[in-house]
Amino acid sequence: MYQYIWDTETGGLLLTSEISKFSKEPRPVYFRELDILGFGVHWSYPRDDNAPIMWAEANNYIYRGRRIASTKGGSLYTRPELVIIEENPEPNGAPLVPVDVQKMCRRNADLMETLVQETIQKIYNTYMKYRDRIDVFYVAFSGGKDSVVTLDLVQRALPHDQFKVVFGNTDMEFSTTIDLISDIKQKCERQDIDFYIAEAPFSSEESWRTFGPPARKIRWCCTVHKTAPVVNKLCEIFEFKKLKAMMLTGVRGDESAARSEYDDLSIGKKLSGQYSFHPILDWSSTEVYLYIYQNGLLLNDAYKLGFGRVGCIMCPNSSEKHEFIKQQ
Ligand code: SF4
Repeated sequence: MYQYIWDTETGGLLLTSEISKFSKEPRPVYFRELDILGFGVHWSYPRDDNAPIMWAEANNYIYRGRRIASTKGGSLYTRPELVIIEENPEPNGAPLVPVDVQKMCRRNADLMETLVQETIQKIYNTYMKYRDRIDVFYVAFSGGKDSVVTLDLVQRALPHDQFKVVFGNTDMEFSTTIDLISDIKQKCERQDIDFYIAEAPFSSEESWRTFGPPARKIRWCCTVHKTAPVVNKLCEIFEFKKLKAMMLTGVRGDESAARSEYDDLSIGKKLSGQYSFHPILDWSSTEVYLYIYQNGLLLNDAYKLGFGRVGCIMCPNSSEKHEFIKQQ
């Protein structure tokens, strides 16, 4: 939504009131990613998970506003090559200083509040407009950062008995996602929100034998192991043969060229007769991370290992660099 600049004092990001046309999708970099990639040979830094040490935009590593390294290539069995631009980002080789997360959040509080209130209002208005035509509103929870933020916004906007949360377990999930699901499920129970896990009645291994590995053009995995089981689960809960559902997702336009063309709300794009609503379509990764830090929300550990997106273990959309990280 908003443009950002680097804040050299906090080591974080600062939103500006300018509206962004395109985001480089910065992500926080924790010590574990630096260790996996071998940056520990070059720099010293605290091995503490509580705060990121720097940021990455694609393969560029940014420390207090300066590009200090990048990575090239990498594959399943080959470590990406490190290109070190600054051997001593801190004077005299002193340890790198983690981002001052609290101060960063304070400095972004006003713009974030505007964005959050607008989004909550949009969720509420959509619910009011469609509630007479829809059998069930549900958050399609994936375990990624965007769905964590969407769920939190929805639970602030709507009465807790007016929507469900459904996680479609593909049976190919990261173990970090399964851990997070268990924590989120418990949190939902404490908040009186119904949380369900939907699974296909057969294993992903059987599907691989039938269809072959998921491919970029033929991604049977999403339909067979996510969308269909989720809708079947909802039909089972409501004892309907067919139901009209509105799925609230964490889809964002800055994630890909295809998603930048999406509308906030659509009917039948994913499944015939079903509504899809993307409340944070205009949000950038900067705003997603700021919201998570401001509200102390859970972050899937996969992000701390260096993944920009959380999907399945053998996802055709995964980069070669990520294939290397998965092996570690
Ligand atoms: S994350 Fe990747 S492998 Fe998993 S369902 Fe989606 S496209 Fe398929």
